Amino acid sequence: MSILRITKYGEPILRQKLKPVDYHQIAPQLPALLKDMEETCLAVRGVGLAANQIGLPLRLAVILLPGEKEEDPPTKYVIINPEIISKRGEKTEEEGCLSLPGLWADVKRFTDVTIQYLDENGQPHTKRARGLLAKAFQHEVDHLDGKLFIDLVDPKLKPEVKKAIKKLRENWN
Ligand SMILES: [Zn+2]
Repeated sequence: MSILRITKYGEPILRQKLKPVDYHQIAPQLPALLKDMEETCLAVRGVGLAANQIGLPLRLAVILLPGEKEEDPPTKYVIINPEIISKRGEKTEEEGCLSLPGLWADVKRFTDVTIQYLDENGQPHTKRARGLLAKAFQHEVDHLDGKLFIDLVDPKLKPEVKKAIKKLRENWN
């Protein structure tokens, strides 16, 4: 197991729209890869990590949804080839991203989404989510589509966000 370097804003792979993977082709490498992604996500106390955030052009992500209480273990979702198939409701809330460490900004998201994906065993799922899980699904699917949460920031606030990123970048590695 190892903790992997997380790609940062400005690295081209974060802007790639990732094509679905062939599950059977990647199955042999999945257990070790998912373990590393989970460990990396935990190490930085993230809610989710997409494969392009560790430099791999694979359409998959790991979500570690925090429990109700701090001592509760997170609930893990491995989402392979995820697609959002329905969405409704809107809410603006503050969000951050492991690829833009230190930056927090308000973004508008759907409050209720249904996604289709394969789990780590290749089993298909259709899952409806609300609250933080709905946000996490949208955030991770966006990553796999080459989008970042700052794309959703109110255009009026973008100059401010740009300025903040410029300053934060000096400390990224
Ligand atoms: Zn992110």
